[in-house]
Amino acid sequence: MTDALMPTYARAPLAFERGEGAYLYATDGRRFLDFAAGIAVNALGHAHPHVVSALTAQAQKLWHVSNLYEIPEAKRLAERLCAHSFADRVFFCNSGTEAVEGIMKLARKYQHHNGRPERTRIITFSGAFHGRSWTALSAANNPKHLEGFGPVSGGFDQVAFGNLNELRAAISDETAAILVEPVQGEGGIRAADPDFLRGLRAVCDEFGLLLLFDEIQCGMGRTGKLFAYEWAGIAPDAMALAKGLGGGFPIGAFVASEAAAAGMTAGTHGSTYGGNPLGTTVGNAVLDILLQDGFLDEVVRKAARLRKRLDGLVVRFPAVLEEVRGQGLMLGLKCVVPNAEMTARLRDAGLLVVPAAENVIRILPPLVVEDGQVDEAVGILEGACARWAEAA
Ligand SMILES: *Cc1c(COP(=O)(O)O)cnc(C)c1O
Repeated sequence: MTDALMPTYARAPLAFERGEGAYLYATDGRRFLDFAAGIAVNALGHAHPHVVSALTAQAQKLWHVSNLYEIPEAKRLAERLCAHSFADRVFFCNSGTEAVEGIMKLARKYQHHNGRPERTRIITFSGAFHGRSWTALSAANNPKHLEGFGPVSGGFDQVAFGNLNELRAAISDETAAILVEPVQGEGGIRAADPDFLRGLRAVCDEFGLLLLFDEIQCGMGRTGKLFAYEWAGIAPDAMALAKGLGGGFPIGAFVASEAAAAGMTAGTHGSTYGGNPLGTTVGNAVLDILLQDGFLDEVVRKAARLRKRLDGLVVRFPAVLEEVRGQGLMLGLKCVVPNAEMTARLRDAGLLVVPAAENVIRILPPLVVEDGQVDEAVGILEGACARWAEAA
């Protein structure tokens, strides 16, 4: 069966039949603790009753009508995203890549709209990941992803993640915007220093650039705030969302301040599926839970507890683990041993995690994870580390 699928992924020999909360059940009957969460997508775990009932109710009424008509569910989701962020305007799409493409187009349009059409270039950072379209790959400039795909699309200047001096030196009369992940995901769970993010905000204000945040992985409660930018006490001008937004239903969005979105007038952008009744109903259901009183406080509490346990493992097994990094329930364990091998061994022991760059394994439990499940995961990690330490 897999032969008909283009072999672009290195898949584990494992298929799942159903999921419940933080657990996945494989077709062979085995149970796994899912600390991969579909790569930070399943924010509410699997088969969350509230989301399932919202989706099934909507599925019996209306799935798709196109953006030729008003879509009340989309309007409501947009209003709620604005009410809980810096944003005034929302555009719905279907994936992270499209959301990033959207904020990049918005930045160019903003400069054009404000009489500076020569400002088209976007500054990005080493270690970045923004998706797999041609433009998104060109923005991130990761040679591993670009190999064999010919010349990149122009318009990007890349500097070292965290280096404000290098950033200032890269600004020219043609610079339109700065694009950054407040916490890099694929790059190895590298959290930007809040001072660096505040520095970016100041530079953008000084030079009339738009500050674009890619919160596709770190947004929607993942770091313990609804959006990661909140930790730095500043706001971007536009932001890309996806992953946790639909809790597993494919939906993306880009959001912007009114000023930043001023050029995005009728006819300037579009998406056939974007913001359809089914997807935005699910998005609203996910938001119902994330916005419940105390939900994000619980994420912060559980994250601190998990982090403390992981820090303990690093101290106990220095020959296996090097450090814990990240924020909230977006954590990375930098390994001394190969991260792919660690991922495979944990999987065999019943714990799913995700490898990332810099020999890191990503620990991304669903935000609804329970203390007992955290303990169970740490126990599996501990066992793997102990076996590794013994063998060394
Ligand atoms: C996953 C991800 C993307 C791409 O999202 P897709 O839905 O796969 O297109 C872009 N940026 C970041 C930070 C991501 O984590």
